[in-house]
Amino acid sequence: ELILAFESSCDETSVAVIEDGAKILSNIIASQINSQKRFGGVVPEVASRHHVEQVTLCAEEAMTEAGVTYADLSAVAVTYGPGLVGALLIGVAAAKTVAFAHHLPLIPVNHMAGHIYAARFVKPLVYPLLALLVSGGHTEIVYLKAAGEFEIIGDTRDDAAGEAFDKVGRVLNLTYPAGKKIDDLSKQGQDTFNFPRAMLHEPNYDFSFSGLKSAFINTVHNAEQRGETLSKVDLAASFQASVIDVIVQKTMRAAKAYPVQQLVVAGGVAANSGLRAAFQQAVAAETPDMDVIFPPLRLCSDNGAMIGAAAHVLWAKGAHADGRLNADPGLSFDYASDFQA
Ligand code: ATP
Ligand code: MG
Ligand code: FE
Repeated sequence: ELILAFESSCDETSVAVIEDGAKILSNIIASQINSQKRFGGVVPEVASRHHVEQVTLCAEEAMTEAGVTYADLSAVAVTYGPGLVGALLIGVAAAKTVAFAHHLPLIPVNHMAGHIYAARFVKPLVYPLLALLVSGGHTEIVYLKAAGEFEIIGDTRDDAAGEAFDKVGRVLNLTYPAGKKIDDLSKQGQDTFNFPRAMLHEPNYDFSFSGLKSAFINTVHNAEQRGETLSKVDLAASFQASVIDVIVQKTMRAAKAYPVQQLVVAGGVAANSGLRAAFQQAVAAETPDMDVIFPPLRLCSDNGAMIGAAAHVLWAKGAHADGRLNADPGLSFDYASDFQA
């Protein structure tokens, strides 16, 4: 089947055409990074305006690049949450309009399910599986007993991993988003500061990154007051090492406690080179029979292709929404299963 998928939850407008949930015929991504950069983060009104301007252009381009017509489509899918309400509304309105005009079923997709299903472009997923979601707004360990059944077994108590990268980046005068820049700086530095590894030894799968962020900021400010300049590359490497240590160790503990053959590491922070290497090493040493799957770099951050892949699972179950579908900015996984046939 062919699914036209819309994504507009944050600052990327993206539309894709996906065949059978596994093949990308097109995946057009209009990023707003250049207009959000100067504000040091995503300004909701700016994001909405961009989505309005871009969404029909992206849809047309996605159809043209895929070389398909609306008559060829099986369904229209859209991210309806979680995310910025004004941003989500534009994708939802666009998808509803196309579905209505062309008499196509509408498939509502949870953005975080989309991040997980980006891994489907690497290989077929085998259940039960474990997924680590590390992105700008989430840090969760999710257990999937079967396709499309999500159970959050671990979560962050405060900041998300990507959010911590971006906030620390600001202290280092790096432009938003800072994740990739800290990743690059880390390669030239060493973990000399030994920042705290929060909640590492607690018997749960939860995370906390605000203490690390404070420790980092205090270290930099104290040095500034003494008139000292600290090594930027060592600061970056130390921060990143702390994040990776906690994430990898706690996720590996879950991977051993649950009966899984695959571990999916997804979300924007899954693009981190140090995190990828650390997981590969940990899996080789501790669970060599388990497969660790990272989506291709380009599909780690927000895109329509991953929404099309997640929609395929709902399509196979016959799940769909109608014209009353609304954006749900605080959507959690529990609601994703509300849409059953
Ligand atoms: P969510 O998916 O939780 O709603 P989001 O969509 O804003 O949030 P993503 O687009 O998945 O988040 O990811 C963006 C985040 O990924 C940013 O915080 C960015 O700094 C981070 N990131 C991107 N590349 C890297 C990298 N190489 N290392 C670390 N972090 C990275
Ligand atoms: Mg983004
Ligand atoms: Fe995202």
